[in-house]
Amino acid sequence: MRKILHVDMDAFYASVEQRDNPALRGRPVAVGGDPHGRGVVAAASYEARRFGVRSAIPMSRAVRLCPGLIIVRPDFLKYRAVSQQVFAIFRSVTPLVEPLSLDEAYLDVTTNAWAEPLAVKVARRIKAEICAATSLTASAGVAPNKFLAKIASGWQKPDGLTVIAPARIEAFIRDLPVDALWGVGPKTAARLRAHGIETLADVRARPLDDLRGVVGSLAAWLVDLAHGRDERPVEPNRPSKSSGSECTYAHDLTSMSDVRREVGEMARDAAAWLQRRQIHARTVVLKVRYSDFTTVTRSHSLRLATRDADEIATRALALIDRTEAGRRPVRLLGVSVHNLSDTPESPAAASEPEGRLPFD
Ligand SMILES: [Mg+2]
Repeated sequence: MRKILHVDMDAFYASVEQRDNPALRGRPVAVGGDPHGRGVVAAASYEARRFGVRSAIPMSRAVRLCPGLIIVRPDFLKYRAVSQQVFAIFRSVTPLVEPLSLDEAYLDVTTNAWAEPLAVKVARRIKAEICAATSLTASAGVAPNKFLAKIASGWQKPDGLTVIAPARIEAFIRDLPVDALWGVGPKTAARLRAHGIETLADVRARPLDDLRGVVGSLAAWLVDLAHGRDERPVEPNRPSKSSGSECTYAHDLTSMSDVRREVGEMARDAAAWLQRRQIHARTVVLKVRYSDFTTVTRSHSLRLATRDADEIATRALALIDRTEAGRRPVRLLGVSVHNLSDTPESPAAASEPEGRLPFD
């Protein structure tokens, strides 16, 4: 049985700001962009969350929800420095640390530098060391796998420590909404609900073929998660947020067939990269630079993430039609894949730095 931790700093950016400016403590604070422009909330203090202010909502809406909201512009250099302190603590415990963002990670502590057999004690000590080093709190989840560990860390926040021992798995997951499943984004959740599948218990009650009819290839994975099964390893070298290649040509490409050949090849390279890492991508981006150096990018996001070479190539080739390649000489082409995820659908968490579970 593996011992996996998910450690997540509480309202990270907002907490750093409150730590460094006493005038912000106990007040509703949102770190993020301009409320008069198109800024969004990157992080909200717990005081602000009580008004319904959440990460990823427009700042203009946040201000309407919470008229006394104090808006602080993000200082990513500062957050990165704190993040480095936190990750240094993680890596002093085990080399098996998988970052999910600046402020959260999975740790496999089955064996650990402290020779501590009880994972809950490892978690408690990590929390204490984080607090000593940064004066900030983290919430930790302890479980036999990544899926459950993440559920656990979100169970009690802030400053939480929740253990899901094997005997308690059933009690924890039975009534969870389908949104809690890793890989179920808002659209898939809506589709499941439309079919009367609201909770993990509902997922398990459905024959696999029924589920396939609703969510396609995601079905088997959802059934595993709904039973609390998740064999994904903690991967210390989680790939970057995107990958791709580009090429500047010695002679401008003028024929459509050359452009298509090059784009097709780069798309297949990107798919091979996803394949090697056993991950999927939702977004394909094509970059075209014309001979006069004007550069355009065109992107296509899929509902479900994929690593299928044909599908990625087809998407990339279709994007050519939205450029002037073939009509204007092209000096550079690039194809890249973004919005990467472990599962065939990008989890909503990827776009919401502060988590998405209803109890976060
Ligand atoms: Mg966090």
